[in-house]
Amino acid sequence: MTTKNLILRLGVCGSPIRWVTPEKAATLMVKNQVVWTLGERSIVLTGGQDRTGHTSQLAVPPIVATKKAAKVADFSPALDNRFLFRRDRYLCLYCGKRFAARDLSRDHVFPRARGGLDVWENVVTACKPCNQAKACRTPEEAGMPLLAIPYKPNVFEFALLANHRILVDQMAFLSKGVSSYFRMP
Ligand SMILES: [Zn+2]
Repeated sequence: MTTKNLILRLGVCGSPIRWVTPEKAATLMVKNQVVWTLGERSIVLTGGQDRTGHTSQLAVPPIVATKKAAKVADFSPALDNRFLFRRDRYLCLYCGKRFAARDLSRDHVFPRARGGLDVWENVVTACKPCNQAKACRTPEEAGMPLLAIPYKPNVFEFALLANHRILVDQMAFLSKGVSSYFRMP
């Protein structure tokens, strides 16, 4: 019944809202909340058997657009290290080396202790030694230039960061909404 693949739920105008389980998407379809769909390769959900012994099946498309409007202008993706490390592709943005998540940390470019905000635009992925070496200084003060400029992911980019089992049709759709500086994690 369950599958680890998720369905991309869009607002009526085509902006991503969130990933939902195929079961949730099926519920939206049954409730007539789905206005259009995208993608060739559906996920087939198998239900119970009816009296005649037939097993019910429902094909759920990989992308469903629903009547609900997506929040685009005031979109504020959760700042979570899982997504931050994926945004920066598990690279320390100071030494440029790749690390496992457990060896990475969230560095505040303009230090928190000096009023720097805990927002996407002020945080980067850093290995623990680089984070300690930088300490309470800006990259300029520490002589540790950033290898990339931190940014807040848009709705398309965040959808790509928030799921690592993305289906081909979903990838094709979401890739159209990413900015030039976005790199797939
Ligand atoms: Zn480093």
